Amino acid sequence: MKILIVEDEPELKDTVQKFLESEHFIVEHAENYRSGLEKIISYDYDCILLDIMLPDGSGIDLLKEIKRLHKKDPVIILSAKDSVDDKVSGLEIGADDYLAKPFHLAELMARIKSVIRRNHQDGENIIQYKNISIDPENRKVMVGNEELILNRKEYDLLYYFIIHPEKTLQKTTLAEAIWGDYIDQADSLDFIYSQIKNLRKKLKSQHAEADFQAVYGIGYKFV
Ligand code: CA
Repeated sequence: MKILIVEDEPELKDTVQKFLESEHFIVEHAENYRSGLEKIISYDYDCILLDIMLPDGSGIDLLKEIKRLHKKDPVIILSAKDSVDDKVSGLEIGADDYLAKPFHLAELMARIKSVIRRNHQDGENIIQYKNISIDPENRKVMVGNEELILNRKEYDLLYYFIIHPEKTLQKTTLAEAIWGDYIDQADSLDFIYSQIKNLRKKLKSQHAEADFQAVYGIGYKFV
């Protein structure tokens, strides 16, 4: 899961970033309106944490851009101003949630998880596809009645496929979602193939009823 923090206060950004990374999120950062807009146009995020008072613009305007571009990325507004106005206009424009600063990291985590659950998991705690089930809260995967032990990237990859079942996912989309925004500058995306190969082997050995299908020249599909 990849999160974008649009925030100009370095200390707050660092604290949130460190915390989210310790919770296994990929964290990207923009420190102003301009770079936030660039990121939003170029990439997709599982959640955007959006500050309102940016040095060169307003987070509210950035939220308007997200909506104008018909992007689905969920947004949680982080506002220093204890302003009812920000909250109301943010939610009216389509922010998913609002958190006033200062906030507790545990509260932020709960809000992020709830947004992701609504957005990716139809509000469910357990995601199921064929005989595979994932409990994202505990990063636990079951095939039938047996637990499937995966490393971090294998888990992230499987989760991403399971929340997009039977859809062709481009290699770059997978790479960006799981390794981060700058992966598009990598020389080759062959590492995805080797991760999928390992994952496929593990799924097969536990008799999973789903498998990866290579879509020539594009990417992969989980069916
Ligand atoms: Ca600010």
